[in-house]
Amino acid sequence: NGRVIFKEVPKGYPEAGKTMVYEEQTIDPETIALKPGEWLVKVLVLSVDPYMRGRMREPSKKSYNDPYTIGEPIENYGVGLVLRSENPKFKAGDYCQGVMDYAHYAICHKTDKFYVIENKPENLPWTTYVGAAGMPGETAYYAWKEYAFAKKGEVAFVSSGAGAVGSLVIQLAKRDGLKVIASAGTEDKVQYMKKIGADVVFNYKTTDTKEVLEKEGPIDVYWDNVGGETLEAAIGTANQHARFIECGMISGYNGQFYPVKNLMMIIQKELRINGFIVNSLRDKYVAEFQAAMPKLLASGEINFREDVTRGLENGDEAVVSVQKGTNVAKAVIVVADQ
Ligand code: NDP
Repeated sequence: NGRVIFKEVPKGYPEAGKTMVYEEQTIDPETIALKPGEWLVKVLVLSVDPYMRGRMREPSKKSYNDPYTIGEPIENYGVGLVLRSENPKFKAGDYCQGVMDYAHYAICHKTDKFYVIENKPENLPWTTYVGAAGMPGETAYYAWKEYAFAKKGEVAFVSSGAGAVGSLVIQLAKRDGLKVIASAGTEDKVQYMKKIGADVVFNYKTTDTKEVLEKEGPIDVYWDNVGGETLEAAIGTANQHARFIECGMISGYNGQFYPVKNLMMIIQKELRINGFIVNSLRDKYVAEFQAAMPKLLASGEINFREDVTRGLENGDEAVVSVQKGTNVAKAVIVVADQ
């Protein structure tokens, strides 16, 4: 068995085999010691998310999450089968979801970030619990409910609309009766956004975002996954009193943040700009999300798509692909089948 170790802080994009390296280790799950409060999981699936780049930083730089530690495994949301437990919340045989090491076997201890998965619809794969039924799904669901103030007939714009978060936002906006404009960076992603109901779709690499928004807007809700020039175009074509849901700014994660030049329009247009961190909205919405979302996904009422990497030893490549945009959908790693 093995794990993916964080080796060095990257300068621009992370590099597979350099920033992170898969290393063999021999731990015996039957005998490895557990302290009180800990539990041991066999890792089944791991998520690959854009925010992981932010954790690959110098420890002195502050952010909303902890930096990865050089020489230790990277970690992220995963699903695991509990093998042994010294924690009353988890028992052997449970399937749990939470932040765990990129490893075949992980010792877990942060109870507040973990839950036991119950009532999983049979036809949903475990991978969905780190995707549409997990953290990215929660992100879309919570912040759309909290900050969109959506009204039927309004116009929404979603950037990175084929991703884990964006593809759900498109579908939530359509269920609320909005006209949806959505952008992504490949033709395949553009087709997928059309398939899940977006009314106007375009490739931001070959089509000018501002031109599309001028023609199809003004926009009432902007769901921002990318920041940068796209955000500037959205501010420029926003309606009076438009709502901006600032979810992510991936265009700046691997280099300089583009300086948005029309910020004065926030005042002129009386825009409502809401940044958020998914965990802060969790307590308010988690129960309804867990009751609703797996069923909507299992029945096909809400569509999802995943880009599956098999084998933990390929985990470093998967992490890089999400930063470079070569993943075709929500990126997940299947570490073990059962
Ligand atoms: P995505 O699939 O949307 O993110 C990866 C994709 O981003 C790539 O495939 C690529 O697609 C696109 N991308 C990469 N670079 C750029 C760029 N320079 N400009 C425009 N698009 C780019 O991942 P998620 O759905 O998981 O996350 C979406 C956003 O939500 C991210 O910014 C993430 O950080 C944020 N987030 C925020 C949370 C919060 O609590 N606030 C929680 C979870 C996620 P393409 O081919 O279209 O270029």
